[in-house]
Amino acid sequence: MIPADYVEISDPDFIVELMYAGLNHNMTGRAVYQEIGLGNHAYIHQDMWQVLQKAIPWLRANNLKMKIFDAARPIIAHQKLLEIIPIKGYFAAAPEKSQHCHGTAIDVCLCRADGTELTYPTLVDAYSPKLAQEVQQGQTDNLQTYLQQARHDYMDSKDPTAISNRQELKALMENIGLNSIPHEWWHYNLPHGLDYPLFEY
Ligand SMILES: [Zn+2]
Repeated sequence: MIPADYVEISDPDFIVELMYAGLNHNMTGRAVYQEIGLGNHAYIHQDMWQVLQKAIPWLRANNLKMKIFDAARPIIAHQKLLEIIPIKGYFAAAPEKSQHCHGTAIDVCLCRADGTELTYPTLVDAYSPKLAQEVQQGQTDNLQTYLQQARHDYMDSKDPTAISNRQELKALMENIGLNSIPHEWWHYNLPHGLDYPLFEY
């Protein structure tokens, strides 16, 4: 059951491609959201939606859309993700500590109207087939390098456009009232989002 105070993101200014509903952009190699029956549906708490939809005028003025890679994450899905990748610091150690599980966080990037993603220093999540395979086998050296590149303070990209795209997204999201976190350029939180109840799906 979806809680009554949740909203499904279905506005045409957003493209929903949840990474854990498919096998692209998916570090775990498992379509966990399909396994639990959620599928490719992006739900968020209505308070989060009140804030997020403030991005729409900017998106339209710039002829861009926002692609959603993760939104509210059911507790049961988070537990599965932790089982598949039991690496400390990769997923929050418990659902209570992940704002995704409170319906108050999203993973996003900006894209063109046709869905083509703008370039960023990394992909959303740490996906490449080779890297995902390494991580699933417990090898994390290359993952650590990748995670450095996922930080907001990473400036050493050979592609300056990737840095400016990341900064543009951050400015947009902070201007509408969301918080960034230092180590994942794609993740944005509703302030005080951990105070919301867990997403019991
Ligand atoms: Zn996230």
